[in-house]
Amino acid sequence: MNNLPYAEVAVLLPLYNTFVYRVPDHFAATAEPGMRVLVPFGKRRVTGYILKRQDTDQGFNAKAISDVLDDLPLFPESMIDLFKWVSGYYIHPLGDVIKTALPAGLNRYDVTMVSAVEKGLDLYGQGRLTPGENQVMAELTVSGKISLKHLAKKLGNPGINSLAAKMEEKGLILRSSTLTQDRARLKKEKFLSLADNPEESIRMSKKRLQILDTLKQQPEMSLTSLKKVVPSARRLVKPLEAAGYIRSVEREVFEDPLGDPVDPDIPPELTSEQEGIVNRLTSDMDKGFERYLLFGVTGSGKTEVYMRIVRQALEKEKAALILVPEISLISQTERRFRARFGNNVAVLHSALTSTEFLDQWRKILKKEAKVVIGARSSIFAPVPDPGVIIVDEEHDTSYKQETGLRYNARDLAVVRAKMDNIPVLMGSATPSVQSYHNTRTGKFVELELKNRVNRKPLPEITLVDLKKLKDANGIDRIISPTLSTAVRKCLDRGEQALIFLNRRGFSTFPICGSCGSSLKCRYCDITMTFHKNESEYRCHICGFSYTGKVACPDCGSKSIKPLGFGTEKIENMLFTLFPDARIARMDQDTTSRKGGMVKLLKMIKNRTVDIVVGTQMLAKGHDFPSITLVGIVCADLSLNFPDFRASERTFQLLAQVAGRAGRGDMKGSVVMQTYNQDHFSITSSRKQDFTEFYLNEIPFRKALLYPPYSRIIQLKISGREKEKVRLTAETAGRFLQTGIEKMEHAGNTIQVLGPVEAGIPKIASRFRWQILLKGSSASSLNRLVRELILDKEIKNRKGVSIAVDVDPYHML
Ligand code: ADP
Ligand code: ZN
Ligand code: ZN
Repeated sequence: MNNLPYAEVAVLLPLYNTFVYRVPDHFAATAEPGMRVLVPFGKRRVTGYILKRQDTDQGFNAKAISDVLDDLPLFPESMIDLFKWVSGYYIHPLGDVIKTALPAGLNRYDVTMVSAVEKGLDLYGQGRLTPGENQVMAELTVSGKISLKHLAKKLGNPGINSLAAKMEEKGLILRSSTLTQDRARLKKEKFLSLADNPEESIRMSKKRLQILDTLKQQPEMSLTSLKKVVPSARRLVKPLEAAGYIRSVEREVFEDPLGDPVDPDIPPELTSEQEGIVNRLTSDMDKGFERYLLFGVTGSGKTEVYMRIVRQALEKEKAALILVPEISLISQTERRFRARFGNNVAVLHSALTSTEFLDQWRKILKKEAKVVIGARSSIFAPVPDPGVIIVDEEHDTSYKQETGLRYNARDLAVVRAKMDNIPVLMGSATPSVQSYHNTRTGKFVELELKNRVNRKPLPEITLVDLKKLKDANGIDRIISPTLSTAVRKCLDRGEQALIFLNRRGFSTFPICGSCGSSLKCRYCDITMTFHKNESEYRCHICGFSYTGKVACPDCGSKSIKPLGFGTEKIENMLFTLFPDARIARMDQDTTSRKGGMVKLLKMIKNRTVDIVVGTQMLAKGHDFPSITLVGIVCADLSLNFPDFRASERTFQLLAQVAGRAGRGDMKGSVVMQTYNQDHFSITSSRKQDFTEFYLNEIPFRKALLYPPYSRIIQLKISGREKEKVRLTAETAGRFLQTGIEKMEHAGNTIQVLGPVEAGIPKIASRFRWQILLKGSSASSLNRLVRELILDKEIKNRKGVSIAVDVDPYHML
């Protein structure tokens, strides 16, 4: 810790440089890198993060830090270089990078409060105010001091800011500013115990006696637990405490997000394939940075390999960071690491409350948990001294963040490993084309697990040609006789079947029977989906809904026909085909409530359901030993996307879904229905042959110069005014063209595609345009886009935003 008089601060504003502030004497000993501060900026105060202490203000006549908001740093100093790298590479303001990295709900905001003053109240009483002023005073007399934002909401008046300013000038009200804090805090819990000698005696009701009785049975009890015995305990405890019957203390508690206890496991003896890989990584661990791709079919024992390597890191007194896709978090991986490493495990994911998240965060920082498991955002976990980073299912698209700071956690794992000079291990049964290509060019070291641990063959896959079914009747056209026979047999054997369709809802293409127009979202340029259970049409992009009785917005006709099908319709058809079966559905609609997912997984595990219908949620990571049949209703859905990764996604999805069959002792089989029998994504997923897929796919990428043969940055231009968005997109396009001409060498290697209207031209009332930049050098692309973003003419456009997506995934 140094006591240098100045600090470099990244402020929470859309700015790309950092600022120097003076550290006042009373903070000299406590302000450390990694802490949040409140600093003056213009007329405001804003949150910032201390990056370092320094001995000069570089001649800026620095202002003083107003407040230090933390007692302890929120991240280790070693992570600052990573934040800076992210800010540079993704062209994103540093302050916001750090905010994204930190647990949500930490930040304080400057809030403007308003209250009435006497003069205002007088004039209001005399009826001498304008109608607008009257409204404000009426509200203030009721609510007293209130935040301006809250007031605006109550009055439904977005112009309240200038009105309030005028009213203050006239001396009618007073504005003041205060700091509020988001919810996240360490949870405090009240613990109660019986005191020896009460100071006074009070009347004992039955309930009071019950409380004393309960407390008698143990040395200490939390108020939360006591409330389970006596629901009104909080109120009842007060007089008992005052009279000295009960003592209480407040303590910080760590909430365990995992819930159930997990029994420790006994590590199995490694297979020789596994052992070779573990040995290699163990001996390499001291050599520093290296990138490994572990390619192994499902069930080949990758997770066991991860756990052995984590053990090695712990033995070297280091920590380990393990990234897993969001969706499989509540499944195996986490439980298995818990069974092996017990309380040394910390888990971070989006289903935690902010308090739970913060608990885990502090545990990691304090080195109380050295095995850190988490989804995408845990690449920013404050692990002080990692010895290895592991990325499971490295091909998974959930590693890519699609809003705000659009980063890819898989790629950042490599960057962070390089900075910490440690190995990074990425594993998958269906690697990304990008990573596999990297093994071919020698950038990554390829490690392979060729065999399944139990030596079980992969399931057999039968293809059904959907083109041949187009004249079939009703249900048969969607669920072929081959598939329904297979399901019947599976049920008769008493086993479970999984039916996969990557589209939710009942009717996915409702169309007007009179005029033929499709029912579109009012705010987005896409068709709504009918959800039969809730009897409503929903927009899957913005969430807007119409009731099921809506009339055609174009012609007013009430006869809307439910064309197209999703999981809900399939579920319905299965009810008809198999009235004796217990059927459950697993998609975003049935799992959005907290605990919904766990409940469904338990049903599958406990075999209280025979057929599960679901979307890609079912494809990932879960291990359901009693599922022996997988039916894929339509393998082609993701194939026709206008995206250069469509084939890759289709292959991965199909191979992963198919891999769900026969994971237990019984042999599995798969029925795959498709319109594209001969497409290589389908044929190679049928054989579960990644290499074959790769060798078919890579020539396309090369010919069209798509990644891995180029780098891409996508600019997403959007706004509420159609014309303005188009004009901005065109201006940006011209700017980029001129920029390329000016760049001497890079000029001929950067292509600008667009501007064009986006694949989905409108989302949530915002019109969207895109520009795609393709080039061989990431740094020249970066330089070009940075110039655009910082250009005054572009920057100062009101009402149009330009989002930068480096290495984009979703091209629509
Ligand atoms: P993957 O992660 O590649 O899908 P897992 O690590 O989950 O594979 O292994 C599949 C199954 O085999 C798991 O039930 C695991 O406990 C078991 N397993 C893994 N390695 C061994 C081993 N060396 N001996 C016995 N069982 C093993
Ligand atoms: Zn119509
Ligand atoms: Zn919508």
